[in-house]
Amino acid sequence: MASFSFSDIEQAQATIAGHVLRTPLVEATALSRLLGTELLLKLESLQPIGAFKLRGAVNAIMQLPADVAGVTCCSTGNHGRAVAHAAKSRGIRAVVCMSTLVPKTKVDGIRALGAEVRIVGISQDDAQEEAARLVAEEGLVDIPPFDHPHVIAGQGTITLEMLEDRPDIETLLIPLSGGGLAAGMALAAKHIKPSIRVVGISMDRGAAMHESIRAGRPVAVTEVASLADSLGGGIGLQNQHSFKLCRDFLDETILVTEDEIYRAMQALFYEERIVAEGACVVGIAAIMAGKLKELEGPVATVITGRNVDMGVFNRIMAGDDIVLGDVTVKGRTYDHG
Ligand SMILES: *Cc1c(COP(=O)(O)O)cnc(C)c1O
Repeated sequence: MASFSFSDIEQAQATIAGHVLRTPLVEATALSRLLGTELLLKLESLQPIGAFKLRGAVNAIMQLPADVAGVTCCSTGNHGRAVAHAAKSRGIRAVVCMSTLVPKTKVDGIRALGAEVRIVGISQDDAQEEAARLVAEEGLVDIPPFDHPHVIAGQGTITLEMLEDRPDIETLLIPLSGGGLAAGMALAAKHIKPSIRVVGISMDRGAAMHESIRAGRPVAVTEVASLADSLGGGIGLQNQHSFKLCRDFLDETILVTEDEIYRAMQALFYEERIVAEGACVVGIAAIMAGKLKELEGPVATVITGRNVDMGVFNRIMAGDDIVLGDVTVKGRTYDHG
């Protein structure tokens, strides 16, 4: 596919219909009151694999010929789950490659879906090398986690549903890592409603897309442990699609600290009773920290996934310290604002 346009996202919507849940967009009443702006949450955490990545994976895998040898991917977890699930439903082999940084709960989840798992190296890049080897030596088709037109188009369908349900959304806050989600969603949002403000949000350490947009080209970042583990990893120095789309369609990118993510996870759980990964709350964290200037509501964000390590989650809800490699996130009990 040479170029990428809104019609690819409309096509993806038809392709994935019936294979992917049309998730609800709900008003977060308590958080809205607390934040002083109407906040809407798109509950992608309700997808069968617990994350939005099913959309892109299903859209990509549905396009493959029936006699394909199988698929492979490298993944921080949710993309691997999505590929495993989509491959299983088409009855094809899936091999998922990932690094040792990935929480055990995610590895177990993928094996349970019937995929083979290869754990290689200490970064996404190491895992990607193994996937490339499987393509060269065993003829598997690589399904990249973000830098692929069919994947981006699948993720973009989230915006179609959100603006169908609530055309009045003024601000869209999108968790940002490799940018497949933000690329598809931002392109669709600007096409449907040019006046909408679309913001990509990452954690402040290892924010590959943010750094790349600033540098004007894909740059490498050091991957470190984060409460938002699904946002880790680079964008690929040879990035073909997601970098340009994020650069062109995001109005801005914002960074939040681990401390801000910690408190936003508590707020989402105690105010709305929603169990979600750290990656989901970066938008809420940015609002709570006052990092969004001249914020106009209704504001909407995507609760991207629920595959959180429950041990870590419980410790955060209890207000305990969390050690992340060389840093400690200081605990504090939630005080309802
Ligand atoms: C993959 C993922 C993201 C980020 O998506 P990108 O397309 O890589 O930017 C955010 N949240 C969760 C839960 C994810 O699995």
